[in-house]
Amino acid sequence: MTVEINSCPNCGSEKISRNGQTRHGKQNYKCRECGRQFVQNPAWKPITKEQQELMQRMLLERISQAGIARVLQVSEDTVQRYVNAQALVIEKQVEVSAKPKKRLHVQMDELWSFVDNKGNEQWVWLALDAETREIVGVHIGDRSAVSTQALWNSMPPVYRQCAVIYTDHWSAYDSVL
Ligand SMILES: [Zn+2]
Repeated sequence: MTVEINSCPNCGSEKISRNGQTRHGKQNYKCRECGRQFVQNPAWKPITKEQQELMQRMLLERISQAGIARVLQVSEDTVQRYVNAQALVIEKQVEVSAKPKKRLHVQMDELWSFVDNKGNEQWVWLALDAETREIVGVHIGDRSAVSTQALWNSMPPVYRQCAVIYTDHWSAYDSVL
């Protein structure tokens, strides 16, 4: 029985391409969003679109990865893989809809940690529009003031001019903003 794969096991994107065959003759696939290569694995249970959306929303609400795993009844590995993939996808994709020039409220935080392929712990920094929950800035790096500056720089000019910035905690912001 062959089931056509239609989404990436890593990030859930449906932008996948056939990518040759493995040396065992299996069809290989590659995700065009996160770059993950994979073959069909009957034992692998994909997370559903609904689960992905819930994961995304819970991550943006700062719910812990362990908490998300318990709520969705998936493994923490599954959540971590999703976070890792999202980190890559988000980095390429900050697109902000046009905004009128008015007071904008932005929440800046380092939200998710993950371990990169060199084994270093990295942080996904996000700037969120506090009203729309739109991601308006992103940076991946350490937890220093340098990262705060990079996050600030990643925001579109309209936000840098008009935004009131909120943070949860945090001295790194004071030195930058
Ligand atoms: Zn992917």
